[in-house]
Amino acid sequence: MSGAAMVAQGKRLTRAVVCQGGGMTALQSCPVPDPGEGELLLRLRLAGLSGTDLIKLSTQGALPGTVLGHELVGTIEAIGPGVEDFELGERVVAAPRVACGVCAFCRAGNETMCEAFKENLLYPGGYSDFVLVSRRAVEEATFVLPDHVSDEQAVFLEPAACVLRGIERSGLARRASVAVLGCGTMGLLHLLVLRAAFPGARVVMVDPDVERLEMAKRLGADGVGVPGPGVEIVVQELAGGLGADVVFDTVGGAASLEEGIGLSRSGGTVVLFSHAPEHMTASFDLNSLFTQERRVIGTYNSALKEQVRVFQLICEGALDAAPLVTHRYGLEDFGMGAAFAKRQKALKVVFTPSQGAAQGGSGND
Ligand SMILES: [Zn+2]
Repeated sequence: MSGAAMVAQGKRLTRAVVCQGGGMTALQSCPVPDPGEGELLLRLRLAGLSGTDLIKLSTQGALPGTVLGHELVGTIEAIGPGVEDFELGERVVAAPRVACGVCAFCRAGNETMCEAFKENLLYPGGYSDFVLVSRRAVEEATFVLPDHVSDEQAVFLEPAACVLRGIERSGLARRASVAVLGCGTMGLLHLLVLRAAFPGARVVMVDPDVERLEMAKRLGADGVGVPGPGVEIVVQELAGGLGADVVFDTVGGAASLEEGIGLSRSGGTVVLFSHAPEHMTASFDLNSLFTQERRVIGTYNSALKEQVRVFQLICEGALDAAPLVTHRYGLEDFGMGAAFAKRQKALKVVFTPSQGAAQGGSGND
């Protein structure tokens, strides 16, 4: 019997990082859920900290009692009735949301606007020693990992699928010129997904932090620069004297959007890939859209088709984002990991099971 799988009144307990309100979290005990019809119970291996979770914590978007976390790699601990395609002990990566596939949004290709997509299919959430995967996620969005794929590679399935969705929505051509604003985890992940899925693209990475620009160069950027006139020249040199065909804004906010428009060519596209501060409005020259045929588009989350494609890229070895992992903590140190990420002292932060759970204890069933 492991520390995490204690028995209290006949019920095994697990530990999860539970939101307390006011941006606070606490590691609390809760019952290990039993997998019902079509469900899987996973023992946590790795959960990635996402920027969206940090925003939910800092904007009171996470109600007290909520367990966040949606980038999840785990081992199958128990299998519910009727599940046939999985075996105990298999290592899997599971996506948290699945669209219905038949509603008007789904049919129009806006799967992430689907009503069914809003439902979180990981219970209680990824920051938990044990996680229940709901039937729809088991059937459609749970992938068994081959031995050669590491947990740290696999944990990027969900965020990389979000990145791929933005790239696909931009209509990027094979040999396009691209600028990416921001060299945080999501900016650098854009670079890696572009390298994997659109190897002919020429990519300029933009960030005020020169250390992060160095990292972007090591990861294969064709050009880098700090925001300002200098980087416009770098973009133009790679784009045949024009601006970029597509600019991905991973920074968010009005100033960044304006910078993105400035770096894009006439007829080009700016993709908004980031939360702006709440209620922020933008003000820019509307004729930069009208007379110059630019497009500004949003992209949100990822659908099954992007998850499937990213899983393929990871398994083929084309996409390896593991070098972006800079910090690893047990779930008991969730607050420390979140604080590091918030102060931008870290790139990707990942969480391993809480200390008691890490001692093992499989076979409790
Ligand atoms: Zn739908």
